[in-house]
Amino acid sequence: FQVPIPQNEPVKEYRPGSDERAKLKAALAEASSKTVDIPMYIGADEVRTEIQKELVAPHNRHQILAHFHEGDQSHVEQAITAALNAKGEWANLSWEHRASIFLKAAELLAGPYRYKMNAATMLGQSKNAYQAEIDSACELIDFLRFNVHYATEIYSQQPKSSAGVWNRLEYRPLEGFVFALTPFNFTAIAGNLPTAPALLGNTVVWKPAYQQIYSAQVIMEVLKEAGLPDGVINLIYVDGPLAGEVIFKHPDFAGIHFTGSTGVFQQIWKTIGENIHRYKSYPRIVGETGGKDFVLVHESADPKAVATGLVRGAFEYQGQKCSAASRAYIPSNLWEQIRTYIVADLQAIKMGGVEDFGNFVNAVIDEKSFDKISKYISDAKADPTVEIIAGGNVDKTDGFFVEPTVLVASNPLYVTMCEEIFGPVLTIYLYHPDNFEHTIELVDQTSPYALTGAVFAKDRYALELVTKKLSNAAGNFYINDKPTGAVVGQQPFGGARASGTNDKAGSLLNLLRWVSARTIKETL
Ligand code: GLU
Repeated sequence: FQVPIPQNEPVKEYRPGSDERAKLKAALAEASSKTVDIPMYIGADEVRTEIQKELVAPHNRHQILAHFHEGDQSHVEQAITAALNAKGEWANLSWEHRASIFLKAAELLAGPYRYKMNAATMLGQSKNAYQAEIDSACELIDFLRFNVHYATEIYSQQPKSSAGVWNRLEYRPLEGFVFALTPFNFTAIAGNLPTAPALLGNTVVWKPAYQQIYSAQVIMEVLKEAGLPDGVINLIYVDGPLAGEVIFKHPDFAGIHFTGSTGVFQQIWKTIGENIHRYKSYPRIVGETGGKDFVLVHESADPKAVATGLVRGAFEYQGQKCSAASRAYIPSNLWEQIRTYIVADLQAIKMGGVEDFGNFVNAVIDEKSFDKISKYISDAKADPTVEIIAGGNVDKTDGFFVEPTVLVASNPLYVTMCEEIFGPVLTIYLYHPDNFEHTIELVDQTSPYALTGAVFAKDRYALELVTKKLSNAAGNFYINDKPTGAVVGQQPFGGARASGTNDKAGSLLNLLRWVSARTIKETL
């Protein structure tokens, strides 16, 4: 059967005085009134251990949201066993039943769980209401619904038959279990990485980033309520390298669905290589990793549109998106205008906790991240080749706050033009408008990444030149728009080079990685 292409889940605006704002405020108050106890979910069991760790709100480090129970290698082994035990029945469940569970989960998220889910993302990951809504409501719902649609497209791809012969392709899940290793910055990605392989009949061991456990638990609650059988997705909290030692040596390890840092992904790939002789099949390795995403401005661009794109692209969710604009190349003859707009926009922006819906900027995720970002800023302050245009202040007294910071570097290879910071720091390099073609080369060659990028221009020849010359520099390329905010079903997301395997999340291309097809020829 075919599932028609769904509509994207409409984004709620949470306007002052609206019913939806009141409901979200109530969910925030409810969540803040208690400290949740978060077990691991292995097979049919909720597993609690002696080791309980605190989860705090990044914008208010005194607010303890939850305690989670940390596991050890024995829990990884239990989770693998649970996944392998659940596999047979799950893979044999009719496709309609598997799909219905994820469609039901989408309905629960769109309706009764929307506010609880968003409140968890807001408090646990320090997102404002809008950033939570486009993530843990809309994008997560879209992943679930669109994946069902794309899976039916895969299943319907069949080979030719001929007189007396019936050929067919049977799309089986991978043999073994899939490991989902998920990031803190998007609840939607954390939900997609285990559910996409599961939809196609795989069973999964899911290890979220510790900073996202608070909202991960709500995803699990929703999946259980939607009828996900025990053992299909097993949620564990175990130190990454410890978990890896068990997972990557296991003969039934069938694949990894990863979003996180480039360094960790490369280490995992090496480990898989070292253990390749142990596995029954060659594991599928699917990863989305870092970015150093560019905005290239041509002198024909609209300065106001550039400034808006930079401020939103660099500073929404405190720049903690793999897709965030973090290096910009601006022609010197447009700079004064663009600078005036950027400075005015940033003066109007408020920073603070998530409960005040007027705050555009919230906290960065934790102290480690705060310290790392602060170091880049203090080094820039001390460097005579760098000018600070806006921001530059940091404060971790109550929460991990970093002001949106704009630097202008006279050296296009300055460290913040090249390294991923994962925080609210934008570095600008000003070029002479006659050097546009040379600047295109700089964009292409000064970063190992190729996740997202944007060009701003009205001139069609300039657009054509950039689009052609930068064809390998970004998996998601934006013309006259910010480089963030890909929508499922509209801009399939992913990059190449050091940014990942480019198996576009929320698309048919991604789902194809989780099936192993058998060709059957039957002579009639
Ligand atoms: N898909 C997100 C976007 O387009 C970014 C995902 C990520 O940060 O990993 O902004």
